[in-house]
Amino acid sequence: MNLSPNFSVAELIKSQTAERKGIDNTPNADHLYNMRLLAEQILQPIRDEFGPFIVSSGYRSVALCEAIGSKATSQHAKGQAGDFEVAGIDNYDLCKWIEENLEFDQLILECYKPGQPNSGWVHCSISDSPRKETLTYDRSRGYRPGLIRD
Ligand SMILES: [Zn+2]
Repeated sequence: MNLSPNFSVAELIKSQTAERKGIDNTPNADHLYNMRLLAEQILQPIRDEFGPFIVSSGYRSVALCEAIGSKATSQHAKGQAGDFEVAGIDNYDLCKWIEENLEFDQLILECYKPGQPNSGWVHCSISDSPRKETLTYDRSRGYRPGLIRD
């Protein structure tokens, strides 16, 4: 089933951990509704601007969240969030483009190291009332407000 011209349900529920551990990662109708909004409002516009890319984590069932040490309250568990990177595009630059062009709820530049374009990834979510909150996360300093390149 397609969520948008270039994104399918299968891509957004794929998880190596779920496959390896036999965890059910099947979304319900509410999750699918949110995944469609995520694809239409966030993923497809990025695809149209930058070209093909892979979503490393989209929907995660509560059981899968628990298996990977992520919170069960994560927007991934509602089908509202995706983690991704675009080959050849610096993740900070990708975040800045999203900040300027898309209506998102939360945008997180994760584990990014300046000067290493392939470092880290981008987390982006949608909601009914988008907060347009930007954060930068790395393991040593935790979450900091804004998109920070340091
Ligand atoms: Zn995420």
